[in-house]
Amino acid sequence: MPMIPVLPPTEENLLKASRDLAAGRLVSFPTETVYGLGANALDPLALARIFEAKRRPFFDPLIVHIADRKSLDTLCTGRDDRAERLMDRFWPGPLTLVLPRTDAVPDLATSGLPTVAVRMPAHPVALALIRMAGFPLAAPSANPFGRLSPTSAAHVRDHFSEGIAMILDGGPCRVGVESTILSLETKTPCLLRAGGVPREELEALIGPINLAETNPEKPSAPGQLPGHYAPRTRLRLLAGPPGPMAGPLKLGWLGFRSVPEGTFAATEVLSSAGDLREAAANLFACLHRLDSQGLDLILAEPIAERGLGAAIMDRLRKAAAGSAEGL
Ligand code: AMP
Ligand code: MG
Repeated sequence: MPMIPVLPPTEENLLKASRDLAAGRLVSFPTETVYGLGANALDPLALARIFEAKRRPFFDPLIVHIADRKSLDTLCTGRDDRAERLMDRFWPGPLTLVLPRTDAVPDLATSGLPTVAVRMPAHPVALALIRMAGFPLAAPSANPFGRLSPTSAAHVRDHFSEGIAMILDGGPCRVGVESTILSLETKTPCLLRAGGVPREELEALIGPINLAETNPEKPSAPGQLPGHYAPRTRLRLLAGPPGPMAGPLKLGWLGFRSVPEGTFAATEVLSSAGDLREAAANLFACLHRLDSQGLDLILAEPIAERGLGAAIMDRLRKAAAGSAEGL
């Protein structure tokens, strides 16, 4: 089977990518959070291809990516003072806002909800591509639904063998975890997914934020599904320091500290300096590497859920739940 072309983001390749997008095809492109699988957000047939390629359930709405705030006029209504302040501070960047939608947004992008999720990514390649295309791009992470998120072009290539016109290679993702999703539908804003902008920073700007109630029967954000972001290898969060393990298990270690060799067949340290930004940026690449080593079990060290620690722990808990489901 022919491989999907992985191309540098030259002017020529960006132009080709924008033509592919205009023709309804899918293009994977880098953002500062993770690699996206992009389609014309205003073209229902192109959106359908995203769901097909990712095997994503139709109840799971998409984030629409824009390159300038003027594009919001065609996508959403009811931008209030809170929205403006959040956009002033955090855009371009890893914050997605859920706002009342206009009729121009296809139902497939919103799963029929009266709201649309929008974000302006902080990656020059993403912004250049959206500008060149001339329309907003719906772009979930470029991975099959529920699997580990891609933070490099190679991760995307390893996940897919067809259905994507090209992968634009913009190097590793700087943030490394998905965007924070905040709904402004209600009087008190509601955090739908922990991500690249810590909740504390949002609250410092706009006051208290509610946490979304998790209802796995009816998720309003797929980040709320208990088994998302899962490696193939079983993963368990460790409560205490690793003790002697029973049996000849081939173990992997994911944590902040390095651990003595011998107990583990493979180890990954997220940030030896204990830096949360570095840890978030390394998270999925470490998980991809551990997942490729034929291990029986990955043990992950929990961290305090402050700042970016909340997003990291959210991904690890779901990776644990998702990998257990497969057993
Ligand atoms: P991803 O797969 O990372 O692109 O996830 C997109 C996230 O945005 C999912 O968690 C969606 O459920 C969420 N999302 C998109 N649109 C909406 C919306 N209108 N209301 C609530 N969540 C949304
Ligand atoms: Mg995703």
